[in-house]
Amino acid sequence: MALTIRGGRVFHGDPVIERFGELVLDAGVVSAGEPRVGLEHAEILEAEGCIVLPGFVIAHHHLYSALARGMPGPRVPPRSFVEVLERVWWRLDRALDADLVEQSALAGTLEALMCGVTGIVDHHASPSFIDTSLDCIARGVERAGGRAVVCYEATDRHGDEGFAMGLAENARMLACVRDGTAGARLRAMVGGHAPFTLSDTHLEELARLAAKHDVAVHLHVAEDVHDQLDARARGASHVTERLVRAGVLSGRALIAHGVHLSEAELELLMASRATLTHQPRSNMNNHVGYLGHARIMANRVALGTDGINGDIFDEAHAAFFRLREHDAAGAAETVWSWLAGGWRVLSRAFGLEPERGFGWLYPGCPADVIVLDYDSATPIHADSLPWHLAFGMSARNVRDVVVGGEVVVRDREPVKLRRAETLRESRSAAERLWARMAELE
Ligand SMILES: [Zn+2]
Repeated sequence: MALTIRGGRVFHGDPVIERFGELVLDAGVVSAGEPRVGLEHAEILEAEGCIVLPGFVIAHHHLYSALARGMPGPRVPPRSFVEVLERVWWRLDRALDADLVEQSALAGTLEALMCGVTGIVDHHASPSFIDTSLDCIARGVERAGGRAVVCYEATDRHGDEGFAMGLAENARMLACVRDGTAGARLRAMVGGHAPFTLSDTHLEELARLAAKHDVAVHLHVAEDVHDQLDARARGASHVTERLVRAGVLSGRALIAHGVHLSEAELELLMASRATLTHQPRSNMNNHVGYLGHARIMANRVALGTDGINGDIFDEAHAAFFRLREHDAAGAAETVWSWLAGGWRVLSRAFGLEPERGFGWLYPGCPADVIVLDYDSATPIHADSLPWHLAFGMSARNVRDVVVGGEVVVRDREPVKLRRAETLRESRSAAERLWARMAELE
């Protein structure tokens, strides 16, 4: 059924340009045709007084963390980044089973959708349940009505066998994408945890699988200085040298964090057309430092949330103020360009040409759209929209969300499921997860 969004002010996102006229969505894309107002089966979404934008993207997320909020902390508080991983996240991921993975993905996708996020680039780990774990993520995303790019973070933490299972899970999902059984709203990448938990040989295996399917390798790099110290201990001059040698960068990799990469290393990433994801809230939370050289990556930076939550507006606000603290000349346009980076990552993952991809609302572009009931005491223009995002707009302004032409949030309520019931199920799943974690401590 065609959907007409009537009466709002519509903006393309990359770059911000006002688009005049009604927005008609048909067969999952923006329609080139006339509005179908009056047709018996045309659906109308009234957006008078609202702002209409392409749905946002989280370029690096961990849906498996959706049931972690408020969980009991470790008995011995972590004092370093590696101890945070060992005592918190690597205990949580080992406690995940099939039901918990699906419930996490469902709760995490629902939260992201309610915050105006229509695309999630996920990075998954559940070492006690690897095979078919990405199907559980896909089911959770689909039940909520979202769109995602998934991968399994292969790692040597559980030996060669654990690595092989992680690699196989990536390969299995890539085959599902290739044969069409993964569904229209799901794509895959090749996931790796981080160079410090992967041997050179295993990095090469990730790069080979990614090249075979022409997709990106998605992994954490230099989130903490530990990744650099480890690279030197393995005989490399820096961690990026390991990535270059293994061929990881040759497939336009998706690199999360890069906080401890030098300017020269970022230039290597830039030359390889890699994208760097930036997650300032997570970096502050983990006390690992700040990505101060992001400007070197120009338009190859994309904003993620790294499992903190699904609120990309909150991440954008943190990114803006952290940037200003670092650089008095920092501009809201820079943070907007990081949001736009997410659209480019998603477009590539879905095999779309930039001008026909996410972030634009030209005919043929994906019908992923959000309606914000954002009213302002000051004028709104294409030039000022990034500043409204920095100082005014928030997730509470998200009223309606459309993914692939389907309304999945209407008047702040999910359409495909009952919110109260889903959250009740999530709370009970979280209690079960925390109990399993307590046993693993
Ligand atoms: Zn991460």
